[in-house]
Amino acid sequence: MLRLVDIRKTYPGFALSVSLEVGSRQTLALLGPSGSGKSTLLRLVAGLDAPDLGQIWLHDTNLTPLPPEERRVGFVFQDYALFPHLSVAENIAFGLREARWGKEPIQKRVAELLELTHLAPHAHKRPHQLSGGERQRVALARALAHQPNVLLLDEPLGALDLKLRQELLFELRTILHQTQIPTIVVTHDQSEAFVLAEQVAVLQAGQIVQLGSPEELYHRPKNPWIATFLGHRNLLLPEQSRPFGLPPLPHLLPQEALQLGQGEEAQVSERIFMGSTVALKLIWRGLELHWEGPEPGLYKGDRIKIRVDWSRVVALENPAEQNQRPGST
Ligand code: ADP
Ligand code: MG
Repeated sequence: MLRLVDIRKTYPGFALSVSLEVGSRQTLALLGPSGSGKSTLLRLVAGLDAPDLGQIWLHDTNLTPLPPEERRVGFVFQDYALFPHLSVAENIAFGLREARWGKEPIQKRVAELLELTHLAPHAHKRPHQLSGGERQRVALARALAHQPNVLLLDEPLGALDLKLRQELLFELRTILHQTQIPTIVVTHDQSEAFVLAEQVAVLQAGQIVQLGSPEELYHRPKNPWIATFLGHRNLLLPEQSRPFGLPPLPHLLPQEALQLGQGEEAQVSERIFMGSTVALKLIWRGLELHWEGPEPGLYKGDRIKIRVDWSRVVALENPAEQNQRPGST
């Protein structure tokens, strides 16, 4: 178990304040917009920076006073930071040579990692001869080489184009399931966090504002900021909630609460074809609602009926402070 106990780090105009636990075989995603403190937190765990206050524990060991090389932490940096003049195999072996492993154990370990990350055919190439996805896997193999006690990944798919990200996402999930060490993966992408992690911590301006499983977070976001950041589109402000007989709080209308085909009249104001799904904008009782699903056969200007299943509507807390907009970079 990795434990961050009341960790504080302050920079001009920024304050990180976090307590967190990651189980021995668990992957935790740290999800937050740019500038929320995700990389800072990873650097503190790796020992690349020192906290102002607080402690970092791994099982019964206090890591806080230890230098990075004694923490046995594997780190995948956002830009991978591979050595350009070394081959794939040499990049993976680098830390093992530094740690004075013998020639044979190094060869054996490198072969294992080439297999795990499907890089064996590329073992002798240099980084510039690899695709983005292959480079990403070299960085991962190198981070895992010395059998670290903790794995930290900073936006591991951030440098890749969308299609490759989707491909590698499920592969990375499989590898993380095999590694069985406490892992923190940083991302600003909600779907990445959901696919990779059992627990997701939402970070806003240096504070964890919600922690839970992907399902808990998605179905029960605490406030409008979190709901929007997790991809929900239909929110009612407190003043919009009253006419529906709801308490004067913000509310989330999840897609499951919208039933097309019965109820009160609505008009399609926009239709966006997206391939396997179609997105609609619907004007209903003065609200603009977003709907997305399999081809509904509806077009701009069509009139339909909508019923809201109020039992599925989620009351949210008033946001404490909204000094960061979701999706801002
Ligand atoms: P994220 O990884 O979530 O995008 P960071 O952890 O990189 O965010 O940064 C969080 C905040 O801390 C930002 O406002 C950033 O400018 C500031 N910051 C990070 N590192 C330093 C540093 N070495 N010196 C001063 N400010 C820093
Ligand atoms: Mg960062």
